[in-house]
Amino acid sequence: MEFNTKVIHGGQKHDPSTGAVMPPIYQTSTYAQSSPGNHKGYEYSRTANPTRTALENSLASIENGNYGLAFGSGLAAIDAVIKLLSPGDEVISTNDLYGGTYRLFTKIYENFGIKFHFIGMENAQNIEEYINANTKIIWVETPTNPMLNIIDIEASAKIAKKHKLLLVVDNTFATPYLQLPLDLGADVVMHSATKYLGGHSDVVMGALIVKDKALAEKLYFIQNASGAICGPMDSFLVLRGIKTLHLRMQRHCENGKAVAEYLAAHPKIGNVYWPGFENHPNHQIAKKQMKDFGGMLSFTIKGNNYDSAIKVLENLKVFTLAESLGGVESLSGHPASMTHASIPKEEREKTGVIDSLIRLSVGVESKNDLINDLSKALKLI
Ligand SMILES: *Cc1c(COP(=O)(O)O)cnc(C)c1O
Repeated sequence: MEFNTKVIHGGQKHDPSTGAVMPPIYQTSTYAQSSPGNHKGYEYSRTANPTRTALENSLASIENGNYGLAFGSGLAAIDAVIKLLSPGDEVISTNDLYGGTYRLFTKIYENFGIKFHFIGMENAQNIEEYINANTKIIWVETPTNPMLNIIDIEASAKIAKKHKLLLVVDNTFATPYLQLPLDLGADVVMHSATKYLGGHSDVVMGALIVKDKALAEKLYFIQNASGAICGPMDSFLVLRGIKTLHLRMQRHCENGKAVAEYLAAHPKIGNVYWPGFENHPNHQIAKKQMKDFGGMLSFTIKGNNYDSAIKVLENLKVFTLAESLGGVESLSGHPASMTHASIPKEEREKTGVIDSLIRLSVGVESKNDLINDLSKALKLI
């Protein structure tokens, strides 16, 4: 089955009792047993729920994995992966990581004796320097937020295999429409399904997808034992979202390109960070591992004036100023005062998060309306 068919049919079957084409929202916590231990595969909804199973099968299918696991949020999914570790274990992660992942690693898991190295992974060979006998996981996020850096998944996988480490890839920004980390040698794909998989800014959810049975069993154990599952209604919503993932992503990419090119040619704009540009430092890797370049981009205003960035953001009408990304509607954000406000100015500026940096999640509206919106706001500075 090809991807565009998998998003609709992958891992799905019609409801056996009624033929319902979409799985019912099984809003139940428990299931009748005919005698103790004799049931139809479902005992208690923390362990498994049929609507969640339908979603988990879809997730496994679209990422070319064998097992899918859905969680109450992206961070709950990340949390489950780190629970594979024991005190003393080490994780090597990119230094341009989603802020919430960084917070979970440093504020929660460092207290439990797990050590994290945050390093530049633009050159995957940098990873090897940090590997020692305690290293267990390489954590990759690509493209990164908000600088749209690209990390070579295949090269990272080779290093992970050589040293018998797990390679985890946060595939939230790219989605399986653009890149398939398991095919490139990753062991675990992680998603904030809140973003493109759900796609409609109406649900918070996380996901993990793996190929290996033994690893899947460990993660299912943690999912059930720690209990950070998602409910049947949310499972239904994300399953519905996935059915149009290919259509939405195609338009996100098309609009992202148009907006990136418009901004790059604008006299008031400094840098535009988008992996589709030939002068992006890892454009060749992006071209190799991604089908297209996505709808996420960031840009700076010439002169790097904080107030100009704020003025632009206050005057955008089609782009909504809000946290999050990946929905059908276009969103704008100001990393320096929003997502990265807790990072000292000097630190964030080292990674490129300067005062005038604006991040856009380009939605699926008409691209002319998006460009006009930016044009009007930029006239005011
Ligand atoms: C949003 C996000 C997360 C966290 O997911 P939640 O669903 O908000 O818990 C993790 N990684 C990336 C790249 C994200 O964008």
